[in-house]
Amino acid sequence: MSSSEDNNHKASLDNLLEEAEKISKDEPPRAIDLARQAIGLAKKTGAAEQAIRAHILLAQGLMYAGRYQETLDTALPLVSTEENDFPHLQAEALGVLGSTYQALGMFPESLEVLMRKRKILMEEKDKLGAADALHSIGVTYAKMEDHASSLENYLQAYRIKTEQDANPISIAVSLNNIGLAHRNLGNFEDALEAHQKSVRLMEQEKHLLFTGAARGNLAKALAALGRTEEAMHNFETALKIIQEVDSPYYLSEICRDFAEMEFSQKHLERALELGTRALEVARQTHSKPEIFKAHELLADIHEALGNPTEALQHLRNYHTVEKEVFNAESNGKIQGMRIRHDLEQTEKENRIYRLKNVELAQALEEARQLHEKLEKLSQEDQLTGLFNRRYLIQQLKLEFCRAHRNQQPLSVVLCDIDHFKRINDRWSHAMGDQVLKIIAGLLRDNVREGDLVARYGGEEFVLAFPQTAGREALLACENIRRAIEKHPWPELHPELTVTLSFGISDQTSLKDFEAMLHDADLCLYRAKHNGRNQCVYGTHD
Ligand code: GH3
Ligand code: MG
Ligand code: MG
Repeated sequence: MSSSEDNNHKASLDNLLEEAEKISKDEPPRAIDLARQAIGLAKKTGAAEQAIRAHILLAQGLMYAGRYQETLDTALPLVSTEENDFPHLQAEALGVLGSTYQALGMFPESLEVLMRKRKILMEEKDKLGAADALHSIGVTYAKMEDHASSLENYLQAYRIKTEQDANPISIAVSLNNIGLAHRNLGNFEDALEAHQKSVRLMEQEKHLLFTGAARGNLAKALAALGRTEEAMHNFETALKIIQEVDSPYYLSEICRDFAEMEFSQKHLERALELGTRALEVARQTHSKPEIFKAHELLADIHEALGNPTEALQHLRNYHTVEKEVFNAESNGKIQGMRIRHDLEQTEKENRIYRLKNVELAQALEEARQLHEKLEKLSQEDQLTGLFNRRYLIQQLKLEFCRAHRNQQPLSVVLCDIDHFKRINDRWSHAMGDQVLKIIAGLLRDNVREGDLVARYGGEEFVLAFPQTAGREALLACENIRRAIEKHPWPELHPELTVTLSFGISDQTSLKDFEAMLHDADLCLYRAKHNGRNQCVYGTHD
């Protein structure tokens, strides 16, 4: 490989990785696809570090797609030093594992890998990376509903981030989670303080979406403290911002929280309006937890409004969707238990080898398919799917030589649609194309295996019958001619008829296949001249 080619590969590899990273969360299937391409390319160029990076992105895509078993299969080999001796990439893989175990309800495993991630990054003196790990540990504790431990980890992460002058948005995210943990612990004053700081930072950074979300949380803390007016005001602002950035995920939650607040204030019409909106948006995003919470709230609102029928309907919907969510969650837990069991059974080495073999086989198969596709494309006529002229000539040359060498007969037929121009002129070019396709199908269906059918030009076709003398070819062409004549053309248009004229040559004694084609053309000319819709063989009789 030349070095410029090498550089090109590296550049497109980096592009693939960058793109996969960017879309991982929003478009997991495409991210998976890109990561796989990157793995193939990295293998080809022997780029070890990028290969690992690509595997991590593959694992991440699989995780966002909810394909947890495959995520684990992909990510687990990447955390052993034999397979991956880049500490930072090991840490990244551990991070993916941590989130996957979280989603599977495998909290002890999640904590274990996240703590390993933290340890590696501390050894690497990457304090901010270690703070991220602490934050993730806090999230796992929150999912375990151990809010005290969660808070402790969030606070530690926050301290490091401020000491290290981290990106203010990342600091504000920490503050937001600190606020949530405080609220869950019933420390509403502390929650309020954290959310206020978070909002201020997000505003400074002009991160609209997060400002909106943080304001929503601030509003909830205010509401919990009974500071209704301020809560309302913050909900209004949050709603306005989130509508502006058009983020349905945050929008349904804000609408619902706001609706709850209005409901508690007995502003029933406004609560109904907001609750309905929350449900609509939740449906758009297919978020089942949001959907059932919205139904629950709407049931209460309708009841208070004196609409028992609507209230009942929402209550029913609430129970149906909630059950679905509950089942899905316990499925995740069961899946987690099964995976845990599998992991104990399987040796890591086996996984690594299997992974490598599968990938290699996959790459070979992809290359083979691509080759096949390209070869087919280069032989095919686009409109009819028959062989094209280029391929025909190549094959005719071979058949002609073979016939000579083996002293065997060969017939070549040139056929041409009668008065095709009239079909185009009277109906349309599209109708003409339709006719060409049908004729192609009829030709293909009425020859034997081993015969060759090709589109030679506009409305001309060539048939080649190996090991067939002219008399037999004439019979075959007569059959085809009749099949075309009998075809139910009026189905396309009541007045449409289509016929074909044929010229047949079996003069293998001529100089080359081109001379044979010329001979067939002379026969075709006679067929046209004698009134079309007929087969002519032998100008030499
Ligand atoms: P003849 O019976 O003497 O063969 O009369 P004809 O009208 O079939 O012959 P002519 O060679 O005058 O016209 C052939 C027409 O085929 C002219 C051309 O526009 C049309 N044609 C060629 N290629 C295509 C194609 O791909 N699609 C369509 N719809 N028409 C095509
Ligand atoms: Mg013609
Ligand atoms: Mg014609």
